[in-house]
Amino acid sequence: MNINQNYLNLEDSYLFSNIAKKVSQFAKEHPEKNIIRLGIGDVTLPLAPVVVEAIKKAADEMGVQSTFKGYGPEQGYGFLREAIKDYYKSKLVEIDADEIFISDGAKSDLGTILDIFGLDNTVLVPDPVYPVYVDTNIMAGRKIIYANANEENGFLPLPDNNVKCDIIYICSPNNPTGAVYNKEGLKKWVDYALQNEAIILYDAAYECFIKSKELPSSIYQIEGAKKCAIEFCSFSKTAGFTGTRCGYTVVPKNIEKQGASLNKFWLRRQTTKFNGVPYIVQKAAEAIFTPKGQEQIKENINYYSENAKIISDTMDKKGIWYTGGKHSPYIWLKCPNNMTSWNFFDFLLNNIAVVGTPGSGFGRNGEGYFRLTSFGDRQKTIEAMERFSELI
Ligand SMILES: *Cc1c(COP(=O)(O)O)cnc(C)c1O
Repeated sequence: MNINQNYLNLEDSYLFSNIAKKVSQFAKEHPEKNIIRLGIGDVTLPLAPVVVEAIKKAADEMGVQSTFKGYGPEQGYGFLREAIKDYYKSKLVEIDADEIFISDGAKSDLGTILDIFGLDNTVLVPDPVYPVYVDTNIMAGRKIIYANANEENGFLPLPDNNVKCDIIYICSPNNPTGAVYNKEGLKKWVDYALQNEAIILYDAAYECFIKSKELPSSIYQIEGAKKCAIEFCSFSKTAGFTGTRCGYTVVPKNIEKQGASLNKFWLRRQTTKFNGVPYIVQKAAEAIFTPKGQEQIKENINYYSENAKIISDTMDKKGIWYTGGKHSPYIWLKCPNNMTSWNFFDFLLNNIAVVGTPGSGFGRNGEGYFRLTSFGDRQKTIEAMERFSELI
């Protein structure tokens, strides 16, 4: 018996455990302080009423023999895939229902999609980055190279024709930086991928936060993307499904590599290793796409966006450089006075009892930066920014 030695190459992530440790230590020493957490990457508002109703109705169906459901199609029920297809149509993107695969969330698919790619591919990930892209490839033993995201490029790196890679990760709007590619930027990546026969893995988990029709909310709004990009999306951040678990992946039928269809490979992979998302959860997701559902989830997104505006307005007022906030729940700011990410973390915690996330936890280029999130409570966000304004 041999273990997968690649697991030994994983770096332990102490980011969130270190934050928790420091916060609980501070709380113990200063029980009178009202700590405000703007570090969380999880939603806080409850499910939309239409979603809850759909769950109850589906649960009732499961308890009646004539409407009971056993195993469903591994790639998801037709009703949900059709609803997603129509959603894409509203973005002027034509996708067939059999190009859409329902999953229990984007994180799973971002990891498992790697099953259909060879181990000798070189992977390009931006730095800083959502850690899942890196760790899943370390587990498989692939070579990883980094695209530098920094202040000069607004944390939106563009392809370098001297750098060769096979699998490219793009997340827009980005976690952790909140930065969003425009169409020109994405087109450069699509052109690079087509020219180098690379594949783009496009993470659109935050697409609902995009407020402008000028900005792409799907990579398929870029010409040529259907020949080189797989898109991952999730209801987690857009409809509060972080605990309910549902997302989808689009694998276009006309991506052919070495004579093989990636759509067929992914279908085979899913039907072999995955048995589908619960019927009840898929009915819940379907409800998001009804007019009422869209209205209700937009209310929640607007709530978070307003929080983001309160945070970014404060940064503007203080002359602090940042990305994100406008089309994203994240504000990624440059630590004042050249503080390191952890220095700034301690500075905020000790002086105003506000918790954020040190940027250095997301990669080398994150050093000196700091992430605040808008997923918290309105009143607390306002108070945190009042304290911030007084301190800085
Ligand atoms: C939250 C998040 C996801 C969604 O993950 P789920 O598994 O669908 O909850 C995907 N990508 C990024 C970058 C995220 O921040």
